Amino acid sequence: MTNRNKIYEGKAKIVWATEKPEEVAQQFKDDATAFDGKKKGQIARKGVRNARISAILFKLLEENGIATQLVDQIFDDTLLCKKLVMYPVEVVVRNYAAGSICKRLGFEEGARLKEPLLEFFLKDDSLGDPMVAEAHIRELDLVGREELAEVKRLVLEINAILSKFFADRGVMLVDFKLEFGKDGDGNIVLGDEISPDTCRFWDASTKKKLDKDRFRRDLGDVEEAYAEMLKRVEK
Ligand code: UDP
Repeated sequence: MTNRNKIYEGKAKIVWATEKPEEVAQQFKDDATAFDGKKKGQIARKGVRNARISAILFKLLEENGIATQLVDQIFDDTLLCKKLVMYPVEVVVRNYAAGSICKRLGFEEGARLKEPLLEFFLKDDSLGDPMVAEAHIRELDLVGREELAEVKRLVLEINAILSKFFADRGVMLVDFKLEFGKDGDGNIVLGDEISPDTCRFWDASTKKKLDKDRFRRDLGDVEEAYAEMLKRVEK
């Protein structure tokens, strides 16, 4: 893989073209950013750990009937993926209050929500990825009406599968972010990644944070948290 076939470089991943037009390779980086890129750093071995964690979780979801982008893990830090046309919307699912919902609405951190709470964010760096309501999604034609209903159904199913998987490993799935796209056949497919970069994981007994919040808030033990989550996921 040379610079010639680099399609896109983001904050945490590089997307490479492959010999097959319908597949891309996603390389996970050690680079970490927070607060809209204002905080930058590196987390040693994050790339390989997140690639492995994401591969295991996507495989788990596939086994449970959820279509994902994952084809295969081809290097320690690289996943071969089906190429998708991504929706310009991120979906956040919250089981417990943490992060921006506490700042926005005054929830106490760790409060159990009555039911999984879905939020949508427009993927637009120049606008600062604002939260959007379903009315905005319809007005801006970001996701079709029926497609949005399907995305919501998938998100709740994924949350149920992952919440159980992590509960069995002594981890609370506090919240996480998902991205979807469409494949060449028009199927709605889960894309991007599921990792400690995109989820909040708390140890169920100690409530210790085992995710990117350790980097965001300078809590220390950052690499150890990623290593611990890989260990739990591999169990
Ligand atoms: N998240 C993400 N990418 C983003 C924004 C959020 O993966 O661009 C994840 C984040 O790791 C957390 C969940 O989505 O698990 C909810 O994030 P929140 O809205 O609380 O924002 P934060 O305060 O983390 O920026």
